[in-house]
Amino acid sequence: MASSPDVIVIGAGVLGLCTAAELGARGHAVTVIDPGGANASSVAAGMIAPALESLLDNLSPERAALLKRARDLWPAVAGAHDLKLHRDGADWRGPDPDSALARLHALGFGGRSVDGGLTTPDDWRIDVGPALTALARASGVTTVRGRVARLADEGRRWRVEAGDGRVWFSPTVVLATGAEPAIPGLPDPVAAIVSGVQPIRGQLTAVATAVPPRVIRAAGVYVAPGEGGVVIGATMEPGRRDLEPDAAESAHQVEAGLALLGGTGESGAVRVGIRGATADGLPLAGPAGAPGLHLALAPRRNGWLMGPLVGQVVADGIEGRAPVADAAALDPLRVA
Ligand SMILES: Cc1cc2nc3c(=O)[nH]c(=O)nc-3n(C[C@H](O)[C@H](O)[C@H](O)COP(=O)(O)OP(=O)(O)OC[C@H]3O[C@@H](n4cnc5c(N)ncnc54)[C@H](O)[C@@H]3O)c2cc1C
Repeated sequence: MASSPDVIVIGAGVLGLCTAAELGARGHAVTVIDPGGANASSVAAGMIAPALESLLDNLSPERAALLKRARDLWPAVAGAHDLKLHRDGADWRGPDPDSALARLHALGFGGRSVDGGLTTPDDWRIDVGPALTALARASGVTTVRGRVARLADEGRRWRVEAGDGRVWFSPTVVLATGAEPAIPGLPDPVAAIVSGVQPIRGQLTAVATAVPPRVIRAAGVYVAPGEGGVVIGATMEPGRRDLEPDAAESAHQVEAGLALLGGTGESGAVRVGIRGATADGLPLAGPAGAPGLHLALAPRRNGWLMGPLVGQVVADGIEGRAPVADAAALDPLRVA
């Protein structure tokens, strides 16, 4: 039987679910369609890391401030969904810590020197599994298993068709499909925006070891507390969509991560996810330029950091509310 929610969100990664939960909280009936199984969001380390992301990516103070504002939406989201937000900060180790600390302060973040690096209170963390589960169960949100095979514009509503023939209708559709190709039936300009999203493969490894009090990062590697120990990651492999674990790369990263920790450990599962990214590194969030179509895509390696902001911006766009100041930087049409 066909169903007709207020909004259909295609994709149950962190962007789709943050958007759905925000819309649900605003009183909309939302259906999220996703095939289930692992995605980039479920393999991620869950760092909410405006400070060290800004430092490591050499971002401008304006961009750093945007990331910080995105982070500051998390306490309300965690509170609303009864999630533990780990506000333990993060450490960075590397050469010339004094100049790194000066840059961190110039970007507006707190921090102090520690042996061989610095520590900042400004980076937080969330446990991704519980967060995805809680967001999917948010008030007003229904999730269904399915892969959308085709979209059709029927004038005042979109026809959303799954590969197995099930059909849904809604005036409003949010594409939150990660790094996957454009769904057939999208208007050409929207398909072009989606097709421009670059895949970046990332791999991390679960390691059973003594858990450090907070995330530790260095050039090319991090160690983050995780289920049963830590996760050590993550690669950045632009252009790759393959999901096969690379054992040699994992061994290399685990060695580097354990050296950071100064301990030993036993490697467990190797997890791979594909991040979607734009050229400017910011997500695509808001109206897609076709009636009733909205995007929540391409947060690069900051999907967890950016999720609540993307959800807010997309929900505002759907409701026709005045956009928050950061919406312009995320406007999907900037890449059209
Ligand atoms: C190894 C690794 C570590 C990371 N660590 C961090 C971190 O610590 N902090 C951080 O902020 N970010 C991190 N990231 C980045 C973050 O995970 C991503 O930016 C984020 O998960 C992207 O979320 P998304 O919702 O856009 O996509 P996804 O999580 O990929 O979700 C998209 C969903 O859409 C579904 N979908 C696609 N097409 C269809 C269709 N036709 N029909 C139905 N469903 C469809 C997919 O099945 C998928 O479930 C990491 C990424 C990786 C790979």
